[in-house]
Amino acid sequence: MLGMVLVVSLTCLCLVYIRASKCAASTTPDEPSTKTRLNEIKADPSSPSSRSLPTGGGEEEDVATSNADRLFLSGGVGMQRVPPRRSPAAGQSIIIIGAGTAGAAAAVGLAERGFKVLLFERDMSLQDRIVGELLQPGGVRALERLGLDECAKEGIDSVHVDGYVVFTPPQHKKEGGEKVQSILLKYPAYDPATLKELFGVIDPSPSSPAADRPTLSLSPPRFSEKEGGKLVHGAGRAVTPPFPEGTKVTHAPNPPSSPSGHLSMPPSPSFPSAAHQGPTSLHPQGRSFHNGRFVQRLRARALAEPNVTVVNGIVSRLLYAEPDSPTSRVIGVEYKIGTGRRLRTADGEEVEEKEVRRAMAPLTLVADGLWSSLRTHVDKAAKPTQLSSFVGLILSHPPMASPLPHPHCGHVVLADPSPVLLYQISSTETRVLVDIFGRMPSASTGDLAHYLSTHIQPQLPPVLQAPFAAAVARGEFKSMPNRSMPAANVDRDGVLMVGDALNMRHPLTGGGMTVALRDVEALCYLLETSTDLGDPAAMRVLKGRFARERKAWAATINVLANALHAVFSTPAGNPTRKDLRDACFDYLSVGGYCAGGPINLLSGLTPRPSILALHFFLVAFHGVRKYLWPVPSWGGLGRTYEMLQVACEIIMPLLSVEKSTVLAAWPVRALVGLIFPYGR
Ligand SMILES: Cc1cc2nc3c(=O)[nH]c(=O)nc-3n(C[C@H](O)[C@H](O)[C@H](O)COP(=O)(O)OP(=O)(O)OC[C@H]3O[C@@H](n4cnc5c(N)ncnc54)[C@H](O)[C@@H]3O)c2cc1C
Repeated sequence: MLGMVLVVSLTCLCLVYIRASKCAASTTPDEPSTKTRLNEIKADPSSPSSRSLPTGGGEEEDVATSNADRLFLSGGVGMQRVPPRRSPAAGQSIIIIGAGTAGAAAAVGLAERGFKVLLFERDMSLQDRIVGELLQPGGVRALERLGLDECAKEGIDSVHVDGYVVFTPPQHKKEGGEKVQSILLKYPAYDPATLKELFGVIDPSPSSPAADRPTLSLSPPRFSEKEGGKLVHGAGRAVTPPFPEGTKVTHAPNPPSSPSGHLSMPPSPSFPSAAHQGPTSLHPQGRSFHNGRFVQRLRARALAEPNVTVVNGIVSRLLYAEPDSPTSRVIGVEYKIGTGRRLRTADGEEVEEKEVRRAMAPLTLVADGLWSSLRTHVDKAAKPTQLSSFVGLILSHPPMASPLPHPHCGHVVLADPSPVLLYQISSTETRVLVDIFGRMPSASTGDLAHYLSTHIQPQLPPVLQAPFAAAVARGEFKSMPNRSMPAANVDRDGVLMVGDALNMRHPLTGGGMTVALRDVEALCYLLETSTDLGDPAAMRVLKGRFARERKAWAATINVLANALHAVFSTPAGNPTRKDLRDACFDYLSVGGYCAGGPINLLSGLTPRPSILALHFFLVAFHGVRKYLWPVPSWGGLGRTYEMLQVACEIIMPLLSVEKSTVLAAWPVRALVGLIFPYGR
């Protein structure tokens, strides 16, 4: 009954919304040109760029404030890279476990601040994975501010990305209807900064011609050095001084060029910079690439830092000050490293002899990724949940002749029962990721190929069906679990976590690397002011600030990814879920803020979970229009209730876990739960 009363009042709200949404498409922004706008923002002390970090005790400190300014300099506002400052704790040591996107970027950022970094990586070879192939503009901005953007833009045959296209499968077309089949969602023309822009009211083509807009010059000359053969092959690089402060690291006996010792890096292919890589400009752009090539570039940059020592070894466990205490401080790591000597096993196989060693440091950064074996050493409760799986295929094509209907765009097909993603990852390859719910059909029995050709292929845009069939026929499938995990609790002293080890979300929106790089950025800025990494009290304050600072963007990207995956999936053909998915498509097709807001969120440029929640509920209201218009019936009211209930079922648990926005406050949750019992 209570629900029905609420639905009736929501009906009135909806009618108001219907009128408002009619105006959305015809929004005529009256913003000044980008250049003028940026200057105004810089001068405005109330703008996000001028916000300061609260200290643990609620006071403000000068250095932190200026760091915070840089932290909040999102995109257009902070175009000039602020050179990193030497930390008062420079010379102290930091162990980093894992040289993936997060670990390798952190090694560079921390070494530039004067820390001595010992970077562990179990496999320095070029990886061929289906993960981390599209970096959203928010992640590109983080790379630019870290001075690492060349790693994504040059020498790896990467492709610039301008936005997304969302398709409904041909089967969804209503009989005789003129239903829109695809929607092009371009990234914003400039980095949104004001609340209005973040919400999505953004000028699609700023009045100032592109040529007038300043181009980026973010990297001082020393950052534009290319890694030469000497770095790639590991030879000729000065060996870092022995690890200080009681470090028990002994350098590997193998020569630097050995694949199992220190300072080694197998050669990776190098690609010329191509015209299709696009200019560096104020215009937010994403990048897509082979993840392995991008990571090799980051690793090469880490190797080039005199303060970084790379150890090609596997960290097997963390070392604690008091081994038997579950809360004891982390003081270092135990790892296994190859000695270079060959051994013959009992069954005649020749393997490299491994040695167990220890390394000590006041701070250890765990960045061992999706399969982290060390995260439970820090937080026993940290447990990822598998939401679905991705099957990856490659469409091969002549250079820059991808069959994708919209070049330089990610493509999302709203297939049943869950979406398909497509984007170009090099001049000659286009990645397809098919989301699979539940049990994965077996590739070896041919079930997977059969499922892809009979169930997925007919739902793709016609132009993609033949290339998709050819890729299926080749049978080169790769699969990965799509896992989600709220940020782990890092209460132990002496340790921090970044990247997938700390936090994960569904990869549908390609937000993982953006979160990882922004986390690295935040950590670097925060550690820049620390005076003693071994001071537990000061480090606890720093951890608290890190957790608060990362919340806004991480929560937005996490909730968006998981919510969008749920909205775009229709398990067991649930009709209300299908209606919600159609409502989302229709909402995007309205244009104006209905398209601008969601694409800003997707691009990783809107660190506001509340804006995400608002758009989410506007989608639901948009969806219930058809039940209530022109005259609400009792049946229509019932469907309205069901739709709002499904919306709450999807979004409320996600917002509660992230503990962000007013909707996560327990009185609000309790009230919403009473009306729409979403936890059933
Ligand atoms: C299917 C799929 C698709 C995705 N697509 C995208 C996308 O398009 N865009 C996006 O932004 N994100 C995407 N993601 C997420 C993204 O891949 C991750 O967020 C990102 O790679 C995390 O980086 P990381 O450095 O934490 O982990 P990783 O890149 O996995 O690096 C971890 C490193 O640690 C090393 N390591 C592990 N254990 C040890 C040990 N004990 N000792 C020494 N070294 C160790 C590993 O060898 C590895 O090099 C996707 C994820 C999945 C599953």
